[in-house]
Amino acid sequence: MHDLSTSSLTAWPWLALFAMPWLVAAGGAWLAYRYARRLRQMATHRDALRRELADAAAGDPAAPGVLSREAFAERLNEVADRADRAGGQFSLLYLDLDGFGAVNDAVGHRRGDEFLREVATRIRRQVDGPVCRIAGDEFAMIVEGDAAQAREVARRLPACMAPPADGPLAGRLAGTALSCSIGIAHYPEHGGRSLLLANAVLAMRSVKLAGGGDFADYEPQMGRDAREEMALLADLRVALERGQLSLFYQPKVDARTLQITAAEALLRWDHPERGMVGPARFIPLAERHGLIGALGGWALEQACRQAAAWREQGLRMRVAVNLSAHQLRQDAMVDGLVDSLKRHGIPPGRFTVEITESVAMEDTRITRDAFDRLRQAGLHVSIDDFGTGYSSLASLRRLPAAELKIDRAFVCDLETSHDARTICEAIVHMAHTIGLRVVAEGVETAGQRDLLVAIGCDELQGYLFARPMSAQALAQWAAMDDAPEAPEFSPSLFDPTRPTDL
Ligand code: C2E
Ligand code: MG
Ligand code: MG
Repeated sequence: MHDLSTSSLTAWPWLALFAMPWLVAAGGAWLAYRYARRLRQMATHRDALRRELADAAAGDPAAPGVLSREAFAERLNEVADRADRAGGQFSLLYLDLDGFGAVNDAVGHRRGDEFLREVATRIRRQVDGPVCRIAGDEFAMIVEGDAAQAREVARRLPACMAPPADGPLAGRLAGTALSCSIGIAHYPEHGGRSLLLANAVLAMRSVKLAGGGDFADYEPQMGRDAREEMALLADLRVALERGQLSLFYQPKVDARTLQITAAEALLRWDHPERGMVGPARFIPLAERHGLIGALGGWALEQACRQAAAWREQGLRMRVAVNLSAHQLRQDAMVDGLVDSLKRHGIPPGRFTVEITESVAMEDTRITRDAFDRLRQAGLHVSIDDFGTGYSSLASLRRLPAAELKIDRAFVCDLETSHDARTICEAIVHMAHTIGLRVVAEGVETAGQRDLLVAIGCDELQGYLFARPMSAQALAQWAAMDDAPEAPEFSPSLFDPTRPTDL
C-alpha cells in the first residue's frame, strides 16, 4: 500500500507531463468550438439586423413593417427556399382596392395616401408573413401554409378597407363602401417564384373583371382572358378614330298615349372581326383604362348633335344619355356638356342624363358637386336601374332628379312575382309623392305593359315597343306617330349581331 502510494506519487509529474498537451489541445478545441459558435450566432444576428435595417430603409416608411418590392422579393425567395427544403406550401395574395379613385376624389390625394397607410397597417396586423405595398392601392403578401389558410386570410382582408371610425377622414369617407379584389397563387402548383406574383395579379384582374369585391385562386384560363382583354383594349383605343362606334337610340313612350317622349342613346361598337360588342363589355374596359373620358365625351357631343338634327326635323323628343361613375367624377364633364348643348341650341331641360341609382347614392363630395352642377345647369336628371340599391325617400329627395327608371329585373318578374309587383307599386307611389316621373325599362310583354299602366307608370321602354335602333330608323318611326306597335317596329329593328338601318 505504502509502496503503491510512493510510486504513484513519483509517477504523478510524469503523468501530468504526458497529459498536459492533450489537455491544452482539448481546451483549445473547446474554445475554438465556442468561438465558432459565437461567430455563427453573431453572423445570424448581424444578417437579421441587416435585413431589418434594409427593410426599414427600403420599406414604406409610414406603414411600419410593410416592405418595399425589393425586400419582398428577397423574402419570397427565402420562403420558397424553405418550402423547397421542407416540402412546405405557401400562397401569394395580391390585393387591389376597388374604385380607390373615388376616395382620392372625395378627400384629396394627401388624405387618400393617409387612408392607404392606415389600410397597410391593418393588413399588416391580419397577415403573419411579409406584406408589401407594390404601388398606390396594391398590396402583395405571403401566407405560409395550405390554400385553405390563404383563403381564410383573404376572407378577413376586406374588413381592412372600412373607413376609419374617427379622425379627420371618418366624416368624409362615411358612406363610401370600399371593397377590394384579391388574387391568390399557391406555391408550387401555380408557378415558380418568378411567375407567382404575375399569376396572383392575373387572378386579381379576373376578380375585377367580374365586378370586384371578391377573391379567386389563379387558373390558367385567366392568362388567356387577360390577353383577350388587352387585345380588345388595343382595338378600343382606335375604335373612335376608325368610326366603329355609333349611338343607337331606344324610345321611351308615354304609358297612355304610346307616343314617343324621349330617345335613350346607347353606345354600339361595330368591331371589324367580332361584330357588335355591347357597351356592358367595353364601357367597364374604357373606365378601367382611362378611355371613358374620350368615349363618353364623344357620346355626349354626338347625342347633342342628333338632338339638334331631330329638332330641325320637327321632332320634339328629349334625348337621354347614360353617365358612368367615372364620367361623373370628371370635373369638366358637366361644363363640357353644357357647352355642347349651347353650341347645338338645345335647352338643357330637354336633355336627360341617366345616372344609375348606385352611383347617384354615393354620398361623396365629388358626386354632390357633380349633382349641384347638373342642377345649376338645369339638366333633366334620371335615376337609372332603380330598385336594387334600397334608397330611401329622404336620399332621393336631395337629388335634383326629375325621373326614375324602374330596374328591368322587377319589370321582368312582374307577371309571375307578387313581390316584384309590390315593389313596383311602392316605387311608383314613392316617386310620385316627391314629384318624380316613373319610367319602366325592359318591358317585353303586353302583360307587363298592362300591369305597369295599372300601377301608374308614366313612361315605358323596352323591346315590346322597339329595340335600340339607328337615329334614322327612329326618325322614321317617330314620324308614324300612331304606329308604335306596328309589326315592322315590334319586336325588333335591331339585329343582335349587326346594326340595320331601315
Ligand atoms: P341602361 O342604361 O340601363 O340601358 C338599358 C339596357 O337594356 C340597354 O342595353 C338596352 O339595349 C337593354 N334593353 C332595353 N330594352 C330591353 C328589353 O326589353 N329587354 C332586355 N332584355 N333588354 C333591354 P345596352 O345597350 O347593352 O346597354 C347596357 C348598359 O350600358 C346601359 O344600361 C348603360 O348603363 C350602359 N351604356 C350604354 N351606352 C352608354 C354610354 O353612352 N355611356 C355610358 N356611360 N354608359 C352607356
Ligand atoms: Mg340608361
Ligand atoms: Mg337601365
